[in-house]
Amino acid sequence: MKILLLSCCAPCSCAVIEKMAQEKADFSVVFYNPNIRPFAEYEKRLQENKTVCEKYGVNFISLEYDNERWCSLTQGLENEPERGKRCDICFEMRLIRVMEYAKSNGFDAVASVLGASRWKDLAQVNRAAQRASQKTSVPYIEIEARKSGMQERRLFLTKDLNLYNQRYCGCKPIQD
Ligand code: SF4
Repeated sequence: MKILLLSCCAPCSCAVIEKMAQEKADFSVVFYNPNIRPFAEYEKRLQENKTVCEKYGVNFISLEYDNERWCSLTQGLENEPERGKRCDICFEMRLIRVMEYAKSNGFDAVASVLGASRWKDLAQVNRAAQRASQKTSVPYIEIEARKSGMQERRLFLTKDLNLYNQRYCGCKPIQD
């Protein structure tokens, strides 16, 4: 099965990429994150994710940065908390685009690390993925990115590879 793995950043995806590469899975990583602002931050995360893929010999695909579309879809939800309604739309928008890309480019299924962080509601991500899957007819695979030592491995690799580890999800910088 040929899988397209949606990654939001290097720290969230490094352990999953390492494991899938070790298992010789047939997969590519796709970076589609028009939610990330400012653009310099987006570029930084993209480059870091690309470097991790190069390290493990994994194909890396970068899709368009359509932040204007993301803003128009989430308009009116600016004050929603993280894990709220804005995130529902954000997850679904990104997954639909990636599933459409998967369908046109010979992938059998999509997976993601959008719920890898402990700050995320994994059930919310999985519900958004199911909606995206119904709309596109592309299967979604729920991969383990938290349990079975994955969280520990992720923390280890983030440190070991000296990965840039941002302090906010994407759309709203933390106020110091
Ligand atoms: S907090 Fe993260 S997942 Fe939620 S809307 Fe913002 S960028 Fe998207």
